[in-house]
Amino acid sequence: MRDYHQNYKKIKKISKAELHLHLDGSITPAFMIHMSKCLEGEAEKGGGFLLPPELRENERLLRSKIVATHCDNLLDYLDKFFYPLWATQTRYMMTQSVINIAEQLHNDNVTYFELRFAPTLHMRCGLGIAEMIHAAIDGLQTTKELFGIEGRLILIAMRQEGPSVANYIVREVQQHWCNAFKDYIVGFDAAGYEMIDPKLFRSAFQMAKRIGLMTTFHIGENCPAYMIGDVIDRIQPDRMAHCYRAVDDKGIMRALKDSDMVVELCPSSSFHTGSVKHKHLFPIRYMLDFGIPVVVCSDNLTVSNTNLTNELCFISDFVDEFEMRNIIGNGFRYAFDYSGAIEPIRTEDGGIVTEIEMEDR
Ligand SMILES: [Zn+2]
Repeated sequence: MRDYHQNYKKIKKISKAELHLHLDGSITPAFMIHMSKCLEGEAEKGGGFLLPPELRENERLLRSKIVATHCDNLLDYLDKFFYPLWATQTRYMMTQSVINIAEQLHNDNVTYFELRFAPTLHMRCGLGIAEMIHAAIDGLQTTKELFGIEGRLILIAMRQEGPSVANYIVREVQQHWCNAFKDYIVGFDAAGYEMIDPKLFRSAFQMAKRIGLMTTFHIGENCPAYMIGDVIDRIQPDRMAHCYRAVDDKGIMRALKDSDMVVELCPSSSFHTGSVKHKHLFPIRYMLDFGIPVVVCSDNLTVSNTNLTNELCFISDFVDEFEMRNIIGNGFRYAFDYSGAIEPIRTEDGGIVTEIEMEDR
């Protein structure tokens, strides 16, 4: 499976599930410019959400400021989200952002996706957490009508904002709980600066679990391996994101395996954040040989300039056909919503290319 173009064509045809995708890192530069232009008339009202004029006129320049090519570390990578966040601050922008991303996913034959965002990063225009979530849900409902694909939401607490903000997000969700939230919010996550003790977020995660949300946790991109162990012990999420530094400590690898959690691996972003220094060091083979289940995801369509087919093509150098099918199947098997959004993996002509034991979930 070493020919990239052949692989790409083949994998693109397969229905796929995207489980780790950030809203702000996945809207296109053209969309950001379009949003700014739509809202130019509002600028005098003190909106503060328009791109600077030189970027509003130059998609190439804007793209160069967003796409991660030479990041030194995770914080450098996160800095790439500065401009995208200017295009996601009103109810309309949020709804349209979701549609913009879903269209890209649809073109890549993704049939189920879990989109994540930190509500507190989208409140610069004065909207509340619940309002922004409803705006995103509107986008998901439109997406279903337009493209026939199912999307769900994972809410993120940014670690650098502290545990009180994490608690606040969950409380807001709880207080505004309604049928739309029940249908579309499926998970809770922590992301951002890693060198903050994970156990500070324990109460937020416990609250999230109590209201029925599944959980995942960004860890192990730039932090020491023992912090991955702290998350496994103290937070006990349903899935783990990244965990690349686990390879530094066999004890942590064993803990991951024993936890039965699937690890969300995002190859392109792992290089962009400096988590994995060389492509041949990408730890998927090591994890699989250890018996750790993995799912492959895109992380950020724009900031990492990728899509799910491309990420799966990358791992084809490390896995055989059977493992590839299993990993694609894991996207459905480990999805947070089991309510009928799951479809069998099919080729373009409708044939099933792999048998996924859905009852294993
Ligand atoms: Zn991520």
